[in-house]
Amino acid sequence: MKLTIGHLYPDLLNLYGDRGNIQCFRKRLAWRGMEAEVVPFFSGDTIDFTELDLVLLGGGSDREQELVCGYLKEIRQSLKEYVENDGVLLAVCGGYQLLGNYYKTDKKLIEGLEILDIYTEWEPERLVSNLILNSPLVKTPIAGFENHGGRTYIGNYTPLGKVAFGYGNTGKTGYEGVVYKNVIATYLHGPLLPKNPEVCDWLLERALKRKYGEEQKLMPLSDELEYRANEYIVNRYNDRKYVWKEKIKKHT
Ligand code: GLN
Repeated sequence: MKLTIGHLYPDLLNLYGDRGNIQCFRKRLAWRGMEAEVVPFFSGDTIDFTELDLVLLGGGSDREQELVCGYLKEIRQSLKEYVENDGVLLAVCGGYQLLGNYYKTDKKLIEGLEILDIYTEWEPERLVSNLILNSPLVKTPIAGFENHGGRTYIGNYTPLGKVAFGYGNTGKTGYEGVVYKNVIATYLHGPLLPKNPEVCDWLLERALKRKYGEEQKLMPLSDELEYRANEYIVNRYNDRKYVWKEKIKKHT
């Protein structure tokens, strides 16, 4: 089995090593004897989303986001169709904001792709923190790092998780990110997936199911180091302790 991964605009959207998410997809497929083809698309390239099984839209500064916005408008309709047809998409920070209706900064209004009916507004105080979430998608708390001036208002969409530590979408609602169909949109940089392998597998399983047509249960991996790192960071920021050994037992 093989998945084709589209990496959108690595030249402009690659803050804090978002590219590591691609490596994680590739490795976790390889460890299970599956192949990954990674296709980077640079600004101005034509993209055929019908050829793709997984898409990463990373984060960028306000300036880069504005540049990307122009290119994205050209592919808007096909990206929207991809999402509505259950295409798997991970959008991080700037990429998350771009999926919405607009991002209003102190200087201008950056038009969004209107793929999600959400919007983002800038405030002077940046939300910079380690971030821990409890998400119904996975058993282990999701850990990462956030750094954004924008506050994202998600209306009635399902959030990715409830903030246990950090700011999240607005710093006020107690929720972070959005899950819509097979899209995860989030402020978590870091990169997200190597730190949170269960999230990576959630995306991979959906991409495999969409491509190969049946429920895909991925072979469990031990992920001992990942769980140890997760336990360390969660316990550092969260009063509620949990035992990583229990998680490992479930996976072996
Ligand atoms: N430019 C956006 C903001 O500051 C996103 C930044 C990012 O991707 N880290 O809100």
